[in-house]
Amino acid sequence: MHLPHHRQLFFRHVAQTSPSPLALEIERGEGMYLYGPDGRRWLDLIAGISVSVLGHSHPEVVAAVQQQAARYMHTLVYGELVMAPQVELAALLARHLPAPLDSVYFVNSGAEATEGAMKLAKRYTGRTEIVACRKAYHGSTQGAASLMSAQWYIRPFRPLLPGIRHIDFNDMGGLEAITTRTAAVILETVQAEAGVIPPDPSWLQALRARCAETGTLLVLDEIQAGYGRTGTLWAFEQCGIVPDVLLLAKGMGGGMPIGAFIASRDIMQCLTHDPVLGHITTFGGHPVNCAAALATLQVLLREPWIGQVKAKEARFRKNLVHPAIRAVRSAGLLMAVELDSFEQVQRVMRYGLDHGLLTDWFLFNDRCIRIAPPLIISEAEIDEACRVLLEGIAASVDTRQAT
Ligand code: PMP
Repeated sequence: MHLPHHRQLFFRHVAQTSPSPLALEIERGEGMYLYGPDGRRWLDLIAGISVSVLGHSHPEVVAAVQQQAARYMHTLVYGELVMAPQVELAALLARHLPAPLDSVYFVNSGAEATEGAMKLAKRYTGRTEIVACRKAYHGSTQGAASLMSAQWYIRPFRPLLPGIRHIDFNDMGGLEAITTRTAAVILETVQAEAGVIPPDPSWLQALRARCAETGTLLVLDEIQAGYGRTGTLWAFEQCGIVPDVLLLAKGMGGGMPIGAFIASRDIMQCLTHDPVLGHITTFGGHPVNCAAALATLQVLLREPWIGQVKAKEARFRKNLVHPAIRAVRSAGLLMAVELDSFEQVQRVMRYGLDHGLLTDWFLFNDRCIRIAPPLIISEAEIDEACRVLLEGIAASVDTRQAT
């Protein structure tokens, strides 16, 4: 170990989020791999939780960051100045989104995109109720956390926002909870942290119709599912609907922190008055992050990666066959491999780390192994990842049977 004191500093001075962080030391990232200081490397099956769609440190993203940083970095709060990377990114997003989604409000993270959409919906409709789905995750800030149903997760942080009603994802019966008092329905197009639950398109279409009928804004969170992960640039494209508001982050910046909530110009205009400056952000739409996001989107649109997602998903599914695997759920390269217990998942993850493979579990489904690699993963890398996973599963099952 070259830098033993870094681990000590990490545990001593970096605020911890759990008693058992992975605490791998990272020296550099390149393409599909993260590298440690001691020559170890890990094939990254989770892409920083659905972030690094182009792999780590894609050269065009790095160049865009370097060039923009040398030109100018922060200038003034979001919304005042005309900056080339920001306006070009907004225009490119609008060009690749269906009408009427043409107005982009830039923020710094997924949670902030959720927060912005919640405020936008209240301001636009003049209503206060919000409907969200059980087992959803939209961010850890207090507004976004209010949308969650998992009491074990949010109870210690009360009081949170009132007026939130929960429905089950894919449940037609839940649509009745959406009324003329509902400002917005907020849901993930594919439920990620629940352990990858793809949407039933007919349910989404009925939800869309119910929102139109009641004057409720339909907000789709594609913070994990967007940016090509499901095989189309946006996951909702496969469901025959268009949301009123779209939430983006994670993959958007190609490894840099940026998010957005996107709506029609007509809806978004209400944030300009009553009150003026009612939603503002210092760093939102930071020019360096916009340059990274612009390069990311340009590369994604140019390269064949999105078109290959379905074949890669099929290759994973073909490989991942083992008696201990209870189910494999997937929406493109967002996949959950279900085992019997969290202990088994932890053992497989540990086996992976020891054999050069980085995986993870899900916040609201700890019996599943997360697979959400960079979209650039090759067929050989898929086979290698599955080989290690199956070995890890076999070893974990054997251990379990032996004990
Ligand atoms: N929505 C979804 C679907 C997410 O998966 C996440 C992050 N895991 C968020 C919102 C929040 O994003 P952030 O961590 O950037 O605040």
